[in-house]
Amino acid sequence: MEWELLDYSSPSLSNKKLSKGKALDEYFLIQNYFSNIGSAYLAEHNVETSIGDDASVISSSSNTQQINSLDTSIEGVHFLSSMSSTDIAYRSCVIALSDLAACGARPKWYSIAITLPQVEDSWLNSFSIGLQKFSDEYRIPLIGGDTTKGKLSITVQVMGEVDTNKAILRSTAKEDQSIFVSGIIGNAYLGLKELSDNLGTDSYSKAYLEPKAHIDLGLKLSDIASACIDISDGLLQDLNLICQSSNIGAEIYLEKIPTSISEKSLELINSGDDYELCFTVDEDKYDELMNISKTLNIPITLIGKTSFSKDLILYDVDNQRVELNAGYSHF
Ligand code: ADP
Ligand code: MG
Repeated sequence: MEWELLDYSSPSLSNKKLSKGKALDEYFLIQNYFSNIGSAYLAEHNVETSIGDDASVISSSSNTQQINSLDTSIEGVHFLSSMSSTDIAYRSCVIALSDLAACGARPKWYSIAITLPQVEDSWLNSFSIGLQKFSDEYRIPLIGGDTTKGKLSITVQVMGEVDTNKAILRSTAKEDQSIFVSGIIGNAYLGLKELSDNLGTDSYSKAYLEPKAHIDLGLKLSDIASACIDISDGLLQDLNLICQSSNIGAEIYLEKIPTSISEKSLELINSGDDYELCFTVDEDKYDELMNISKTLNIPITLIGKTSFSKDLILYDVDNQRVELNAGYSHF
């Protein structure tokens, strides 16, 4: 076991504790902060060997398919430097797990690759509290990872399962279906604004800091939805991905998009970070969806329908077509 020095550009790394060859420190770091996270859930998810060996060993069953996804969160890009390490850990894990919700998968395990600028006991302690909170909320164990030195970044791999052929994909939406979103769109954007502009209020910051992965909703949708995506980059971009993969178009209405404030700016509805689900269903599934909404206590709102054209069209409150330019892009 070695620290892999990722930060080649700064050869004079001050914290020698993190340099190569201090295997014992790293062993205790993993033992102290990572080895017991979610260990209560190892058995129920068939993990035979977990953290501490070269790899984890998991028994598999038939009739299911494995679902696997991975997301990296980088300080200053995907989360604010000012966030507590509890929030950084929790949020990095939830946003990775959200992809499993979108597939209608049952979460089973997760692994974390963490790159740290230095080892700081209190920081790591609070980080592991965020992991534990995540493990307990979704009842899954941490089964492995990697620890390296460099600019702070957290890569979370989440793994789950579906009954064979039950995964909800992006590519299987059809024309003339209803388009729904869960929750309220734009609260994470309002929360991020509160946090980054130091507005001194915290009405929405929780929506940014502690998003939810809608696992239960995804599971219920697996028998109903023809396609689904979690809204990470923005409603328009993400819905557009369903359209492109499914080779269809969509018409949605600004006034129908559920928001907390009445002024529905493009920025508000399209900034992402909400991790709500956007999905397509046959029109006759409306009542069933409203029942699911009641049972799970999650708003589910009809925002438009899919179309034969290949365009994504947004209508404003006066039913005029809104000019859409390219939205958020990663690079
Ligand atoms: P190797 O050198 O064989 O890759 P590592 O030192 O990277 O081994 O890891 C030792 C064990 O600790 C492995 O089981 C690995 O999965 C686990 N591990 C390392 N870092 C983390 C981490 N940040 N979180 C959880 N488990 C970790
Ligand atoms: Mg390793």
